[in-house]
Amino acid sequence: MRESVNSTWIAFNHPLEGRLPFMYLDTRSFVTTGMGNIIEPRSTAEALPWYDQNTGDTASIDEIDDAWDLVKLRTDLSQLGGGAFKNITSLRLTDAAIDDLIFSKLFEMERYLERRAHFRDFQNWPADAQLGLLSMAWGMGPAFNFPRFQAYVSERRWADAATECRFNPDVGTIKVRNDRNQQLFNNAALVEELGLDPSELLWPARTAPSKEDFGLVCRLEADTTAERALDVRAAFDVEMQFSVDPTGFTRGYGGPNQGGHQGPNWYIQYGMDLGAQTGTAVYAAFDGYVTRYTPHNPAQDHGGVYGAQIFMRHSNNMMGGFYTHITNVPGYIGVNSQVARGDFLGTVVSFGGISPHLHLALVEIIGNQYVGVDLYHLFLELETIYAKYYVPVRFMQDGTPPVPQWGRMQGKR
Ligand SMILES: [Zn+2]
Repeated sequence: MRESVNSTWIAFNHPLEGRLPFMYLDTRSFVTTGMGNIIEPRSTAEALPWYDQNTGDTASIDEIDDAWDLVKLRTDLSQLGGGAFKNITSLRLTDAAIDDLIFSKLFEMERYLERRAHFRDFQNWPADAQLGLLSMAWGMGPAFNFPRFQAYVSERRWADAATECRFNPDVGTIKVRNDRNQQLFNNAALVEELGLDPSELLWPARTAPSKEDFGLVCRLEADTTAERALDVRAAFDVEMQFSVDPTGFTRGYGGPNQGGHQGPNWYIQYGMDLGAQTGTAVYAAFDGYVTRYTPHNPAQDHGGVYGAQIFMRHSNNMMGGFYTHITNVPGYIGVNSQVARGDFLGTVVSFGGISPHLHLALVEIIGNQYVGVDLYHLFLELETIYAKYYVPVRFMQDGTPPVPQWGRMQGKR
């Protein structure tokens, strides 16, 4: 497989499978570990480097067998999710051992797939199509029989393959996987249609920004607002959703620290340029209240400074965001107005020769420090495959990056 597929695999698969360092039963009551890795027969489990989490000692074959037998009997827990098995055994795998397990399964699947007649040209497929096929095989085994899908991919009819790649039961995380796989085959179609580099993944965005486009020339006058002193340190979650209407979304033009997104101000340095057709609706990405508002005055648009500017904070005053390059901001928006996630904030405005986009920057406020955060990848996914969902993001309050809580992703009402 292509290097870009290999290096993205764990990030791609993690939200769909979770990752557990102990033995558990999957919903079909197979003993499983890691990222949905079935360890049957028992000799498969014996071959792994288990250790006892209480003593740190390497587990013996007898201890592994005992743990495996214990887990195998607990069919009463098999429908509760792998987490229910956390305290059943004390044997654990290290992160590195789990990675090894994941990649050995992935490479084994790849070898199997490329021997199948319809997939013989697999190594020459666009990276997105490779990732899509591997994802299907991971979800249902590499011997699946989808005649129409197989015929389409053998003719490199990627867009047609996208319509035939979903597998059942098409609910829950399998539905999310199906959505992603469908997106991947559509991406592959685009790669060949536009003559893009097949070794690069377009996922998760719909299209890849060219190097020159990275980080448009968003600029602003320096913020002179006095910063409030705060000292609250408990981690907290904020629900996030897409911010430009996905029907008008075009592509990501670059995230934090790319191109023109440079310090010292967080609202420029941590900007995400979410490309969208002029006039595309912009919505609040999270609940908050407006702390500062500069209406759009077309006469003052210049350089990279154009459109209305809205600074917003979560009600706990521990994170915030900044939106610009918008117009048609509703009249109720002003300092202190309350805004709920999903509320309309205006429409994307274009200026000069700059590709139209929303500039959205996010910050965590730790004590009295403003620490910009990089959630660009999350937002590209929210604009493309997860448009119907919102995802809680955990802000740690300790200076480490915020963490999307994929396991608690929810469909929007
Ligand atoms: Zn920008």
